[in-house]
Amino acid sequence: MKIDLHTHIIPPDIPNYAKKFGYGDFIHLDHDPTTCTACMMKGPERFRVIESNCWDVEKRLEECNKDGVSVQVLSTIPVLFNYWAKPEHASETSKYINDHLAQVVSEHPTRFIALGTVPLQETQLACFEMERAVKKLGMPGIEIGSNVNGRNLDDPALDEFWATAQDLGASIFIHPWDMMARDRMSKYWTPWLVGMMAETALAYCSLTMGGVLDKYPDLKICFAHGGGSFPATIGRIDHGFNVRPDLCQTDSQSLPSSWLKKIYIDSLVHDEDALKLLIKKVGVQRIALGTDYPFPLGEHRPGALIEKMSHLTQDQRSWLNYKSALAFLGLDEKHYL
Ligand SMILES: [Zn+2]
Repeated sequence: MKIDLHTHIIPPDIPNYAKKFGYGDFIHLDHDPTTCTACMMKGPERFRVIESNCWDVEKRLEECNKDGVSVQVLSTIPVLFNYWAKPEHASETSKYINDHLAQVVSEHPTRFIALGTVPLQETQLACFEMERAVKKLGMPGIEIGSNVNGRNLDDPALDEFWATAQDLGASIFIHPWDMMARDRMSKYWTPWLVGMMAETALAYCSLTMGGVLDKYPDLKICFAHGGGSFPATIGRIDHGFNVRPDLCQTDSQSLPSSWLKKIYIDSLVHDEDALKLLIKKVGVQRIALGTDYPFPLGEHRPGALIEKMSHLTQDQRSWLNYKSALAFLGLDEKHYL
């Protein structure tokens, strides 16, 4: 059994919100039925071409069946977070996206699980939509970005969001987006190859040193892309925490590495040695198969890297392939087996 914790989907008929609201880079799709592709349009501008598996549920199921994936955990594409928009507009787009996610799950309840999206630029609206996603739409949690319009995740304005997430028992999947230093990353796809990893490390440092995880110890947090660069640099982060407490221990006295076995990460690292390090640092019971389906930077054959790890026991593989995902989401495996 395999549960893919990290996959993205877009509603095929998402409204042209740029036209409706009269501003901004809201994404809609310009479909080309002859090639089964669509162009993601940022307002009137072409953004990128995607294939039908990004929105076509039957196509996704066909590919899941071919790849032995029992369940996909669906979340929106970060470019659809719309944190930059007016809060009431991002609230409307989040509702539309979440209703679509819930609809897909209701049609195939044993094959899909959904993580919602919220307008995180306005904490109260974000809490309201998170509560709706969890209580009304039955979602186990939500996906959020690694920053909110340049504000890190320990921003005091997000305090109520974390409190509400803990109260609801909502699992929070943190996905890098709006990458830092874009003015120096115009070449070599570096926002995706360097920026995403650094964004995720910054999110980890903000939540740990910022005291968010101390304050809300029951939060369930998962970082995408194998945790980005923090698992490999945790020794340096701990050392800095110890030698400059005046800079690092301002909101937390807990060593940053002490959280490694309390958070979750996905397995998407594309390298056997890197996954070995993650297993050593975080443990198999905190690492969940994730592929970033259906995008090219993802793992094209879900679980191939885990399969390659010949020294793993069957029990360890079970955790990586599905048990960790279920533990993070707080779901029972008997519903999906
Ligand atoms: Zn992703």
